[in-house]
Amino acid sequence: MEFHELYSEVILEHNQNKENKRPLAQATHQEHGHNPSCGDDLTVSARVVDGRIEDLAYEGVGCAISQASASMMADLLRGKSVEEALALTERFLGMIRREEIPEQKLEELGDAYLLKNIQNIPARVKCAVLAWHALHEILEKEAARPYPRAIEKPFPDG
Ligand SMILES: [Zn+2]
Repeated sequence: MEFHELYSEVILEHNQNKENKRPLAQATHQEHGHNPSCGDDLTVSARVVDGRIEDLAYEGVGCAISQASASMMADLLRGKSVEEALALTERFLGMIRREEIPEQKLEELGDAYLLKNIQNIPARVKCAVLAWHALHEILEKEAARPYPRAIEKPFPDG
């Protein structure tokens, strides 16, 4: 199969994926993303428990690229620790920004790796990164928060 055929097929599959596009029960985080240049409007919801993404989904409207990218992200990061998810999210955003990242590291992005060439279509870059930016906000907030079990201070204040 040619790359562009595989690409179209995977984009289509992700657009029909209802496992990733749905309301999320007991979400702990929600972040909205809007891309006025295309009209994409997504909300990413995550349920983070004990430093792990128990569940991840998105809702909203937008073009095929923005929807497929959000779905690829949910597939890749559901079940990952906040730390792993943050690293993979930054790797994806780095790929789109044309940072030098070893091929092998990019392959770990799963289907999202197929969006690599979107960097050559400036008008679609914002579509591809929309959901990932929203999730990045969520993960940064979560990463900055100490785990409940890590709050033991050896010496009480005062
Ligand atoms: Zn778009």
